[in-house]
Amino acid sequence: NKINNKKMNALENKVAIVTGGGSGIGRASAILLATEGAKVVIADVDVEGSQETVTKITAAGGEAIFIKTDTSKPREHELLVEQTVEKYGGLHIVCNNAGIGGPLGPVGEYPIDGWDKVIAINLSGVFYGMHYQIPAMLKSGGGSIVNMASILAIVGTRNSSAYVSAKHGVIGLTKTAALEYADQNIRVNAIGPGYISTPLLTNALDDDTLKAIAAMHPIGRLGTSEEVAELVLWLSSSKSSFVTGAYYTIDGGYTAQ
Ligand code: NAD
Repeated sequence: NKINNKKMNALENKVAIVTGGGSGIGRASAILLATEGAKVVIADVDVEGSQETVTKITAAGGEAIFIKTDTSKPREHELLVEQTVEKYGGLHIVCNNAGIGGPLGPVGEYPIDGWDKVIAINLSGVFYGMHYQIPAMLKSGGGSIVNMASILAIVGTRNSSAYVSAKHGVIGLTKTAALEYADQNIRVNAIGPGYISTPLLTNALDDDTLKAIAAMHPIGRLGTSEEVAELVLWLSSSKSSFVTGAYYTIDGGYTAQ
């Protein structure tokens, strides 16, 4: 698994930011992008998890750094982009992936502060990110942005109004940004994973609930972060050069039902 041994890496000389790269889908995506030759900046609030991601990448011969970033704060995105360009000389790929599940409960009982927090991280965080990322990408000659939505961006579920609303918003934001920059060599797409076995899910739910959720996917299991990372890689690479403003489900058939 030596990164440097690979020839013809798809992302050679590319610079990538992965938000929420300290765990789960973000970590797997960061590792895969680095394996294809990208220099990766992990942007996350979790210092320990992020350092582990960086170590995994550098131990395999890849290039990565961690820049502590709270994606719900615009100024932190501004600094993140500044420091990324300072360190690696440009910005070509972003996976806006940081997100939280938030509290559970019906709308009539949903905590207002919980709503505000989920919207701040899962929706506003993606807007703040692109707001600073896009000018840097334009200066770098263009690139590809992959926003992490969810199946809950196209269908609802009970007790997660803030999450569902934020993810639906990410799709609209993705399409709009895609239209605005399509003729300037920046592609913007969104991904909709079904339920993926990550700490976001496994820390929040007990085994019986996880089994029941797995059974809701026609493939009959939860997805893995590595499976989602493959789609992030494809959308980040020039192999998807005619794809923009799109939303791709990766959900074991969940939304086909
Ligand atoms: P995870 O909890 O394993 O990882 C999320 C990472 O985001 C963590 O490292 C966390 O520290 C970081 N993060 C949280 N808030 C942040 C903030 N304000 N600023 C910076 N970083 C922050 O979760 P995951 O399952 O890998 O989720 C990643 C993304 O995928 C999320 O956007 C999530 O909504 C989405 N998603 C997950 C699933 C699933 O079933 N796990 C399904 C669909 C979509």
